[in-house]
Amino acid sequence: MNFEIPSGAEYILKTLTGAGYEAWLVGGCVRDLLRGVPPHDWDICTSARPEETEACFAGRRIIEAGLQHGTVTILEGGEAYEVTTYRTEGPYSDSRRPDYVRFVASLEADLARRDFTMNAIALGLDGDIRDPFGGEKDIRAGLLRCVGDPAQRFQEDGLRVMRALRFGAVFGCQVEEKTARAIHENRHVLEHVAAERINVELCRLLEGEQAGEILRQYPDVLCVFWPELEPLVALEQNTPWHCWGGWEHTIHAVEAVPAQTVLRLAVLLHDIGKPGCKTTDENGIDHFYGHPAVSAELAKGMLRALKFDNETRKQVVTLVEYHDVQIPLRESSIRRWLGRLGPERFFQLLAVKRADAMGQAYEKVQGRLAELEEMRALAEKIVAQGQCFSLKDLAVNGRDVIAAGIAPGPEVGRVLSGLLERVVSGELPNQRERLLALLRDL
Ligand code: ATP
Ligand code: MG
Repeated sequence: MNFEIPSGAEYILKTLTGAGYEAWLVGGCVRDLLRGVPPHDWDICTSARPEETEACFAGRRIIEAGLQHGTVTILEGGEAYEVTTYRTEGPYSDSRRPDYVRFVASLEADLARRDFTMNAIALGLDGDIRDPFGGEKDIRAGLLRCVGDPAQRFQEDGLRVMRALRFGAVFGCQVEEKTARAIHENRHVLEHVAAERINVELCRLLEGEQAGEILRQYPDVLCVFWPELEPLVALEQNTPWHCWGGWEHTIHAVEAVPAQTVLRLAVLLHDIGKPGCKTTDENGIDHFYGHPAVSAELAKGMLRALKFDNETRKQVVTLVEYHDVQIPLRESSIRRWLGRLGPERFFQLLAVKRADAMGQAYEKVQGRLAELEEMRALAEKIVAQGQCFSLKDLAVNGRDVIAAGIAPGPEVGRVLSGLLERVVSGELPNQRERLLALLRDL
């Protein structure tokens, strides 16, 4: 097979092999080439020791940051290539990182330390492929399979549990049976993995095309770092609106929202407070009064535990908090919400509401979906027309209020807010002369 390889990678492979060492492309880039998608980075492994690699590239731009793990980064043609000496990993006494890495003589030993068969394939310059674990066959079959004994591999490094789910969600591959069983059985190794590393993999998982299917199959894994999910996974809801339990509803909603981190997180967590709010009336119908506020509070803690940044937390929590709010289909109401949330968050909220509806009983939500669509179109028109919905759009400002004789201080803000409310409601036009006249009459 012929593969498109960047000239920098080719140069590095040629230089190393020209000096008598072995050198191979390896890992994600080979996997992606075989899957027919463009690789986003290019890793190289070599029999050369790090100092030998450096000697081969004397005078070129080199970064030594990874040297203690055997990695020399070479900058060529604007691209950074990590060149790593064949190595194995020592035991993982803490399921976090190997106690040590050891250089080894053979490519096969280096491939054996890698997590999944699809990530353990080497590609040489002449198109030569080394694939001792059958990775190519697994790629063709769409199977994610551990290299070696799955239980042992997950116990060595708990992050591999999340990597497995991420690859499953992003590539839409099936997790091979033994690997899948080992994920369930060893999921608690995740307790030893740093929250930041779980965070990265979780976000990539959620952005995956097949995120829903992975959530469906592995809720127990997510419950290890987010035990708050457990009651939702078990939640039954007997209401005319819902044809699914809490978890299946959540999954359908996740599948229905665009694959962006904030949206997917908001939808994943939107009903997390429902189990704690459940009541059943005399007709046997369940209610979840007040659940959005409880969900928002729980989401706040869960996002903090997983070390999400302030901005992401704020956005997700806002969307969770308002996911069930009633917004009348009127321009004035839409302007009010546009002003309250800002356009970006408002449109995200509509996407969350739409996804929430998509996860409910189909025959019940057609009207709601149509209404949401109409609301989106109206909001877009309001924004496109530059209509006034926030103080900065208002045709008068604080200086005008003071010039009209109001003493500087909190009263100025109150007057402006009062005017804004009347403009947003449609009672007043956003015309400077009209508003100034009103101010003079105050
Ligand atoms: P992508 O770059 O698309 O996230 P990748 O497979 O290249 O996927 P990297 O984190 O860049 O992932 O790792 C490069 C290679 O290193 C992997 O393909 C795999 O062979 C190996 N690897 C990475 N992380 C682990 C791990 N936790 N355990 C074992 N091998 C790993
Ligand atoms: Mg990579």
